Amino acid sequence: MVECPQARRHVDAMRRLDQLNFSNSYARLPEPFHSRLRPTPLQGTHLLSFNPAAAELLDLDPLESLRPEFTHWLSGQAPLPGSEPLAALYAGHQFGHYVPQLGDGRAILLGEVQNRRGERWEVQLKGAGLTPYSRRGDGRAVLRSTIREYLCSEAMHGLGIPTTRALCLFGSDEEVWREEVENGALLVRLAPSHVRFGSFEVFYYRRQFDHLRRLADYVIAHHYPELREDENPYLSLFREVTTRTARLIAQWQSVGFAHGVMNTDNMSILGLTLDYGPYAFLDDFDPGLVCNHSDYQGRYAFDRQPDIAHWNLSRLGQALLPLLGEPVESGVERANAVLDTYAPDFHAHYQALMAGKLGLRERQAGDAPLLQDLLQLLAAQHVDYSNFFRTLGRFDSAPGARNAALRDLFVEREAFDRWAEDYRARLGAEQSDDSLRRHAMDRINPKYILRNYLAQQAIARAQQGDNSEIERLLRLLQAPFDEHPGDEAYAAAPPDWGRRLAISCSS
Ligand code: AMP
Ligand code: MG
Repeated sequence: MVECPQARRHVDAMRRLDQLNFSNSYARLPEPFHSRLRPTPLQGTHLLSFNPAAAELLDLDPLESLRPEFTHWLSGQAPLPGSEPLAALYAGHQFGHYVPQLGDGRAILLGEVQNRRGERWEVQLKGAGLTPYSRRGDGRAVLRSTIREYLCSEAMHGLGIPTTRALCLFGSDEEVWREEVENGALLVRLAPSHVRFGSFEVFYYRRQFDHLRRLADYVIAHHYPELREDENPYLSLFREVTTRTARLIAQWQSVGFAHGVMNTDNMSILGLTLDYGPYAFLDDFDPGLVCNHSDYQGRYAFDRQPDIAHWNLSRLGQALLPLLGEPVESGVERANAVLDTYAPDFHAHYQALMAGKLGLRERQAGDAPLLQDLLQLLAAQHVDYSNFFRTLGRFDSAPGARNAALRDLFVEREAFDRWAEDYRARLGAEQSDDSLRRHAMDRINPKYILRNYLAQQAIARAQQGDNSEIERLLRLLQAPFDEHPGDEAYAAAPPDWGRRLAISCSS
């Protein structure tokens, strides 16, 4: 058989699971940063879904998922060669209140794999049993929440939004008690680092400033090496995290993603979307949507996310104060100067992303009110957010064109017509070409998002032993801008039962 030499090289670079290139650095940090321990195996573990796209990040041969050892090693039944399992310590502000000790209560870090591109990926098992940080929890994760995290992290990646990734998902026969008896499951997730704002807070509030510095040095050395030579690398770190967070939240807002639990322990130091719980993608545009069933005050409502991220960054800045120089007042001033960049940075990014969603190449005066008017209209008329923008790509800007498909998304069609006149004029002002614009908009406005009702359907099937919906959604969501003929139903707004599903915080 003749083989393409390039394909051969590719295969050669793929590794067996027991030959992954582990290079563990977090385990080298001293004891208070983590606790060494072994995962507690689940009963009757079986592989439910495997994601080859994430396997590539580890240089892992996807065929390895077919070996029985795959489940043994990655679900924590037997030690994976090269791994040094540990649970990490952190704290955090939960719903505005400081909780002095959290930590990986059910997640166990196996270690970091360095791939042939030189990237390091932490391999973490979520749902791997009790740790010293489990508090009153059981160390487990249930099938429904594990499927939600598995699918959503890959959906976010498909949308181009920074996120942790998901390698595979295991089901089990083990009974786990939540509001009712459910099945335990385990997610293998990947990220360059799972360090959170709360990882810094714990040492600040314990007044362990040496450890605080050690953690900052670690994060800079491994994840922000370009900051090492700066005059004040810790201030630069804070600036960089602030910028990344502002951009991340701008992406969330533009795509209509509500995280649901933006506690500081769920805020990534790398600006990744981290810890998927009761999240939701907006169906109809409801800016005040509170997707977390237990968020009685609406603290984490969709439209509060930009402010909450700023508040969370203030907590991080506070925790970094001992590293920002003497006297402390100057440190405070420097941190506040960084925080002051957040709002303008967020707005600039959000406006740019929304201009893209509207298919505008140029920035012109009047763009902000055009967008504002539209969002008000979408909210007032309960129009499906993603489907509106996808359909807007097909807007016919010829004078007198009816644009029936768009109009029909609105109850009051004349209200849309009025906005459409402004939009048509605005497109004319930059000599927009309909077909070029449609092409560009289709790469920005996704056709497929992980609507809660879709996740719910996949969960219900999986609970009956049928994983086909998980596989199908994974395929659609990894390419959310493509048309996927035959699967159009997965782009539909929710049926009545699937609107505003209250997602329990228990997971
Ligand atoms: P979360 O709200 O999922 O971000 O979790 C907040 C904290 O609770 C983290 O320290 C988790 O590790 C911990 N936790 C959540 N669920 C469990 C569980 N079932 N067992 C042990 N710890 C848990
Ligand atoms: Mg968390």
